[in-house]
Amino acid sequence: MIFSFFKNNHSIESLPEFDNHHSVLFLSDSKVGLKGFIAIHRKNPNFPSFGATRMWHYNSETEALQDALRLSKMMSYKSALAGLSSGGAKGVIILPKQGKINRKQLLNAYAKKVDFLRGNFITGTDVGLFQEDLPILKETTKYIVGFNNYTTQLTALGIFCGIKTALENVSLSPSIKEKSFAIQGVGKVGQALLGLLYNDAKRIFIADIDEKTLRLVSKKYKNVIVVKPKEIHKQKVDVFCPCALSGAVTHKNVSELNCKIIAGGANNQLEDESIGVLLSKLNILYCPDYILNAGGLIAVVNEYEALKFNYQKVKAKVLAVKENLNNIFQISKREGKSTNIVANQIAEKIFNNY
Ligand code: NAD
Repeated sequence: MIFSFFKNNHSIESLPEFDNHHSVLFLSDSKVGLKGFIAIHRKNPNFPSFGATRMWHYNSETEALQDALRLSKMMSYKSALAGLSSGGAKGVIILPKQGKINRKQLLNAYAKKVDFLRGNFITGTDVGLFQEDLPILKETTKYIVGFNNYTTQLTALGIFCGIKTALENVSLSPSIKEKSFAIQGVGKVGQALLGLLYNDAKRIFIADIDEKTLRLVSKKYKNVIVVKPKEIHKQKVDVFCPCALSGAVTHKNVSELNCKIIAGGANNQLEDESIGVLLSKLNILYCPDYILNAGGLIAVVNEYEALKFNYQKVKAKVLAVKENLNNIFQISKREGKSTNIVANQIAEKIFNNY
């Protein structure tokens, strides 16, 4: 199968997201309609690269490839700052535009590709894949993680701890009481975060593009205020929490923000790194996404390494987000650099030594 990117005479290296990736595998199995990519950004020679698999609709293979490259790069940064030995990687499955898929066959075909990499790539569930998909993948390959049942909860705990740390840093009390929040996306992570904030927060706005999810969530959490997806980032709140897909803050919408802090679970929240500088100018404290949402990765790496999942050990590591963030905030103030740039520079020093 010809990958349309090459039909246009482009090279993968010419993509800004490429960043000297270790390897990129194009996935194709026409019998079951599988198309996608596995991208490995950095590889520690003594340890596999970790990254969950996303199954999503993309407008083109190139868009899917760019997403895979961006996300796998971010996983290298996440891993380095969480003190883990793994490099970064990502799997992306392109959902076919038309026709029904046989989910089990598609997942089995994908798992074969994962197995082909012989443990250099370890994966689990990201957007579009669910807990019930894991046993199907595991039928074909052992390089699957996420069975510990705490991944989402620990991701949300890290974000919650990060929010409190950030509140202190903008001279507000870390208490959630009297604070307002806007959560973009109330899927697995957004909902878990909502659960942690709900009883104490003064006001919580939520938005989701999925009507059914919104109905279920607002039935369970009766005091939330539902707003349109296009309006969520504009709410006057203490904390804006992006918990949906990438690119929540863009050049176009950055001036519409009305918050003091950005702290959420979504990966790659900023359209590009220059947005971090704009946020500093607007006096909005940005908590680097990959520091806040590392809980899930910490959990699955422990699941992979240890014979038995050690919840207390993982939780302690997740709560280290406080020291990590405080360190970044201090350097950012001292050196006049935006928080995303400070975090990137620290991470690069670590993984460039692999
Ligand atoms: P999910 O699919 O369960 O939830 C995402 C939700 O966002 C869905 O309900 C979807 O309808 C909604 N959404 C999509 N686009 C939207 C938009 N424009 N506006 C409002 N809502 C929108 O996925 P998840 O597991 O909760 O992951 C959410 C984000 O957190 C992703 O970026 C993921 O990569 C990241 N993340 C997840 C974990 C984890 O443990 N699940 C860990 C680290 C990072």
